[in-house]
Amino acid sequence: MAYQTVNPFNNQLIKEFDSHTDDQVEQALVKADALYHSAWSQDDVESRLAVLHKLADLIENNLERLAKTASEEMGKLIGQSRGEVTLCASIARYYADNAQAFLAPVKYESSLGEAWVEHHPVGPIVAVEPWNFPFYQLMRVLAPNYAVGNPVLAKHASIVPQCAQAFADLVREAGAPEGAWTNLYISQEQVANLLADARIHGVALTGSEGAGASVAAQAAKHIKKSTLELGGNDVFIVLDDCNLEQAVKVGAQARLNNAGQVCTAAKRFIVHRAVSEAFLDKLTQHFQAVKIGSPLDESTTLGPLSSKEALEKLTEQVNQAVKQGATLHLGGKPVNHEGNFYEATILTKISRDNPAYFEEFFGPVAQVYVVDSDEAAVQLANDSHYGLGGAIFSQDIARAKRMASRIETGMVYINSLTNTAPELPFGGVKRSGYGRELSDLGIKEFVNQKLIVVSGPSAK
Ligand code: NAP
Repeated sequence: MAYQTVNPFNNQLIKEFDSHTDDQVEQALVKADALYHSAWSQDDVESRLAVLHKLADLIENNLERLAKTASEEMGKLIGQSRGEVTLCASIARYYADNAQAFLAPVKYESSLGEAWVEHHPVGPIVAVEPWNFPFYQLMRVLAPNYAVGNPVLAKHASIVPQCAQAFADLVREAGAPEGAWTNLYISQEQVANLLADARIHGVALTGSEGAGASVAAQAAKHIKKSTLELGGNDVFIVLDDCNLEQAVKVGAQARLNNAGQVCTAAKRFIVHRAVSEAFLDKLTQHFQAVKIGSPLDESTTLGPLSSKEALEKLTEQVNQAVKQGATLHLGGKPVNHEGNFYEATILTKISRDNPAYFEEFFGPVAQVYVVDSDEAAVQLANDSHYGLGGAIFSQDIARAKRMASRIETGMVYINSLTNTAPELPFGGVKRSGYGRELSDLGIKEFVNQKLIVVSGPSAK
């Protein structure tokens, strides 16, 4: 796909970018491979962590510029863009402060002798990333891999080329050597060629199921490790004893943040019958109160979708859902306004044979289901091909904890929307992918966990 910036607020083309040639990709690979075999990767931990500290400072110093770039490129509300940029700084700082402890050798008691596991870099890896969090997604890969000493060749989504370059520039400005993080404007075929190259040792992908399946298959063919952070159809369970005002307020936010384009957004609201009417009324009021407008206008509460194609896809999905029997409770069409705006929408009465029941809606469209028991809520929650996150609202924490343990996802939050923080693992099960990013778990995905044993009892 051509790399270009098109403002989602009005679909004006702002800038086009030349793609990298195969020769340029080869040069990037040579640099990454050489860096991996240098002192930078093999033993220079402290100076690598100092660069992450510097990067965190630089990101904070450039907060407004970065936030504006994201808002103009993919339509995120400016306040949310600022939040994303700030989170990126905290991820860089988190790994700068904690990576050495995470990577310290771990002793193993063994009858074979003195044994321990060391953590070493594996070599250059590829990152394939989506546009919906155009800086955070990159930082989730950069920070742990920079700390470990793995150079990264990064292919960002073709609709956020300026974010991709701005990020790469800051990494260099922070003191990273050439080859540590290379932004490449490349095609899917060029990604496949990289994965086939012996100098590449893994791939981290965040994106759709289709992209994940394709890239993971290419990696598997060449026996390379992959991590996949894919889509979700997360539940937001509202129990009869919850604080309803809080549940509705957080629920609306969990569905409408980033114009609904969040992998862990609340996509299926599962509501106990006793509170279902009140919940639906209040959710409707919240959705009706949104103000569409420019992502750069601080008073806007619902921005445009990221692209014309995204708007067309969502429009078709909702039309099909209704055609197949769902009830359109609110909204249900593009907003009569230039740009890629879609109405805040609520669908109810979605039967299991409606394709919408299993689909991810990547936009401001809530599905509301009503259940009569906790058991029914769990069954409905788990009746999904996805398994990313989920939320449960209840004032009975023991009840919510029991339910959380039974939900088949990688993350469950009680009395909060599905959130993220540098110190918490992020990832899913089922078709939401495999592997974890962030936290101590994320840094171990692309390391050689090398066992060393000194044989014999005398060595102990
Ligand atoms: P997408 O179309 O899969 O694109 C994601 C990235 O993959 C882009 O860089 C894209 O490049 C690239 N790509 C697509 N097909 C490829 C292939 N066959 N080979 C190599 N690269 C390929 O995803 P999207 O629609 O932009 O993003 C939204 C999806 O990501 C949603 O499903 C969302 O839930 C998921 N997501 C998951 C997480 C998570 O952490 N689990 C976080 C954010 C988003 P081009 O742009 O050039 O096509």
